Amino acid sequence: MPFADLGLSDPLLRAVADSGYDEPTPIQTGTIPAVLMGKDIIGIAQTGTGKTAAFVLPMIDILGEGRSRARMPRSLILEPTRELAAQVAENFEKYGKNHKLSMALLIGGVQMGDQVKALEKGVDVLIATPGRLMDLYGRGKILLTGCNLLVIDEADRMLDMGFIPDIEEICSRLPKARQTLLFSATMPPPIKKLADKFLSDPKTVEVSRPASANLNIEQRLIITRADKKRDVLRDVLRHEEVKNAIVFANRKTTVRDLASSLKKSGFKVGQIHGDMEQAERIAEFDRFKNDDISILVASDVAARGLDVKGVSHVVNFDVPWQPDDYVHRIGRTGRAGMTGIAITLATREDAEAVAAIEKLTGHKIARVDAEGEVSAGAAPTEEAPREPRRAPRAKASPKADPVTKAEAPHERARRREEPPRTPREEPRRDPPREQREPRYEEPSREEREEEVADAPLVADAAPGWNGPLPSFLSFGAS
Ligand code: AMP
Repeated sequence: MPFADLGLSDPLLRAVADSGYDEPTPIQTGTIPAVLMGKDIIGIAQTGTGKTAAFVLPMIDILGEGRSRARMPRSLILEPTRELAAQVAENFEKYGKNHKLSMALLIGGVQMGDQVKALEKGVDVLIATPGRLMDLYGRGKILLTGCNLLVIDEADRMLDMGFIPDIEEICSRLPKARQTLLFSATMPPPIKKLADKFLSDPKTVEVSRPASANLNIEQRLIITRADKKRDVLRDVLRHEEVKNAIVFANRKTTVRDLASSLKKSGFKVGQIHGDMEQAERIAEFDRFKNDDISILVASDVAARGLDVKGVSHVVNFDVPWQPDDYVHRIGRTGRAGMTGIAITLATREDAEAVAAIEKLTGHKIARVDAEGEVSAGAAPTEEAPREPRRAPRAKASPKADPVTKAEAPHERARRREEPPRTPREEPRRDPPREQREPRYEEPSREEREEEVADAPLVADAAPGWNGPLPSFLSFGAS
């Protein structure tokens, strides 16, 4: 079906054509006409499927009619992370260039002065993370009574991050006769319950997981030893045809250590993790996007939802603890019809995590040796840990290697002091909590309160915004 048959306006179709898209993706075909007819939607889809445009496009046409009023946003999009919020804003800017819509963005970790000013003038679209929204709502800066269109994006991530009570609260403050669109990669029971409570006669549109269905991503598993992983990684980065790569590690400390070690080895490398200031993250991400660096070492949270076209490789330096993180990680490559390679370094201890990934994706990952030859497909447990065929360059012992070294006592103490950030519904097969980097790094409620108290309320095209900021903040809001 061509875009023209979806019921979108001509100015919008022109903007879509300018973006270079020929045909709508399945989630767009299933969603857009129903949204234009005012229906509630449950979209079971994850990043990489084109789901952002599936709600942004019809919203632009719906909001094209009507006017905004002071402090009363006409629509609200809830995103679990700042990065995703930023990318939604980027989508509005791209597709909304022929419309005059005003937007404001409320995300943690940035100054909010101009955003609050924009809000006070009235905005058509408010894009927010739930914590920051609740803070401002509590301060009387926002009225939700004029908000007739709500998008809850990445609902399962919201659940993981403990945002569901905030979302329930927000839903109950919105007009009852609103339109609600809920997107989630999976539908665990609490999300189903949320949908039952707050959506009315929704149309459900489900598209397959891109990672399991995406034949554009070639997946490989290299089985090695923990103390050889850096050597194997360097070999991969040197001998594969790597145009650019995102290297994922499970811990922030590993991200830091790995980035500096790769730098010493002569790679053009940057890093992105949850302990970094937002402005630093943006700068690193921009360097990667602009090809100033070719390797970005990242933690899951910081890289979540990052959308860079043409990433040739994703390397999992660590097997992710959660199988769905594997799906998200490898989805950074093979995007928008391009091909990509995802390589995972695994040790014998990772056997269970690898099995969980394969169960989730329904795909047996090809085992290769360190030189790239496909082996018989033995699972890590079935195979003694072995060295890559290529001799490692340096003798690294687990003790000497910062990647694998035990955590220093002060680090442990610091970690114990950190507030719990990742409430979970049910325990999964994770390593003990104290060994983990918090999976999500949105600030806790107390931290958010501090952040708000410290920060002037808004973003002037300001430090800390993690996306394509400039034009959209001035877009219709001045
Ligand atoms: P999303 O699932 O929203 O994260 O989108 C994934 C990627 O698909 C982004 O790079 C979009 O720009 C791209 N995209 C969105 N819609 C289309 C389309 N109809 N055809 C091709 N690519 C698209």
